Amino acid sequence: MSDWLFPPAPIPSLPIAGTDARFPVRRILCVGQNYAAHAREMGAERAEPFFFSKPADALVTDDADPTYPTATDDLHHEVELVCAIGPDGIVGWAVGCDLTRRDLQAAAKKAGRPWDAAKGFDMSAPCGAITAGPAPAPGAAITLSVDGETRQSGRIGDMVWAPEEVLAKARSLWDVRPGDLIFTGTPEGVGPILPGQKVEATIAGLAPLTFTMRPR
Ligand code: MN
Repeated sequence: MSDWLFPPAPIPSLPIAGTDARFPVRRILCVGQNYAAHAREMGAERAEPFFFSKPADALVTDDADPTYPTATDDLHHEVELVCAIGPDGIVGWAVGCDLTRRDLQAAAKKAGRPWDAAKGFDMSAPCGAITAGPAPAPGAAITLSVDGETRQSGRIGDMVWAPEEVLAKARSLWDVRPGDLIFTGTPEGVGPILPGQKVEATIAGLAPLTFTMRPR
């Protein structure tokens, strides 16, 4: 029997509301510009869904607070419905926040370079507990507030590509497996978060996500 050179990192996981079980996370895929009004505010009119990813260990879970990242002066919030993939498709739903170094993303877009440093940095994926069961209704509200001021407010049904369509598209590109999470895009109203500010994100029917941005 061989031994590890050093102890393996822990498996990232999410709590599941109402149970002691945890959801072991394998990969995180994210969809860009999946709400028409947000696509417009980002200067895009792209219809086909496109993907980027975050490492699984970018998750911030269990009410932990992320640290304001290095190398940015323009950290943005993006509230998103997160699909949790089990052995037979989507098994649960969560409220996530796709934290984005918007200044680095703008520079990458301009230069035609990848988004990894803009999207996939450490602690870039705060996520609430998974709620098992059916998808939120199309009329379900999705909101995000900063220090009590509402910044984002939309409806799940405003998505250009519904979660099952996003999953089908993802399966055409990757071998999507149990443990994968898909962040399904954000409604309009993205904007900056400053160190010390409190973020509250909700989707009707799901466990909410709350965190305070710790100074770096
Ligand atoms: Mn996003």
